[in-house]
Amino acid sequence: MPPGDLETDRPHSARIYDYLLGGKDNFEADRRAAEAALKHTPLLPISMRANRRFMAKAVTYLAERGIRQFLDLGTGLPTSPNLHEVVQSVAPEATIVYVDNDPLVLTHARALLTPAGTGTISYLDADLREPETILGDDAVAKGFDLTKPVAVTLIAVLQHVIDDDQVRAIIGKLMAPMPSGSALVLSVVTTENDKAGEGTVKTYNQNGVPVVARTHAAVQALFSGFDLVEPGVVAVHRWHPTEADQGVADAAVFMYGGVAVKN
Ligand code: SAH
Repeated sequence: MPPGDLETDRPHSARIYDYLLGGKDNFEADRRAAEAALKHTPLLPISMRANRRFMAKAVTYLAERGIRQFLDLGTGLPTSPNLHEVVQSVAPEATIVYVDNDPLVLTHARALLTPAGTGTISYLDADLREPETILGDDAVAKGFDLTKPVAVTLIAVLQHVIDDDQVRAIIGKLMAPMPSGSALVLSVVTTENDKAGEGTVKTYNQNGVPVVARTHAAVQALFSGFDLVEPGVVAVHRWHPTEADQGVADAAVFMYGGVAVKN
């Protein structure tokens, strides 16, 4: 792809997601793919909002327990509140490194880079399937103090990496240099709550955006080797529910999430 090519003629996951959340950073191809998905699962935006809340709940939990360094992979388009705003509202000095491979997210990186505190925010245009490149970049290699815990957050992104072994290898490589006390946060797509989600997964794939749905057991296996924080892997609205999560129907939430700590 030539540099700067936004490939607006084909759908991209960040832009479909943006459309479903009511954002404006999307194009006709994204809107068409999103509308096709909504035909199967009209409640998808409820699931996505529950997932955004999961991100906020998980990083608040970790910031309140002293984590000050966050590596967020598959950041997405700016959606308020962004991860750094949530983290820096607890710990203004926290360092955040954002990573995404969509060139449109790159063009919005400046909006993401506006600190909400005193800590540094960096943006890396990189592919999470190449963890060595990410770990070798100065933003991580020099920007983080790897004697102190890091939270690695993979929120609503691993459904785009189809192979479980590849996902485990990516997680293993990303977590290897992180010291004891570091955390792994994941949320991924499932259809166990409502089989209608299978139609949605199919439309994403037909539109050229690879997506796989995972079972509870498969998601739990992605955390193997780490200590899951209570209540373990659950639908994202059931992880430390807030008031906004209380009224959400289980059948509306197509994401499992969990938080774990490295020993
Ligand atoms: N984490 C955000 C956005 C999720 S949308 C949230 O939960 O709200 C998924 C994001 O992952 C998109 O921005 C997409 O561009 C990005 N993404 C997908 N595959 C990726 C890859 N291989 N490397 C880096 N980013 C990727």
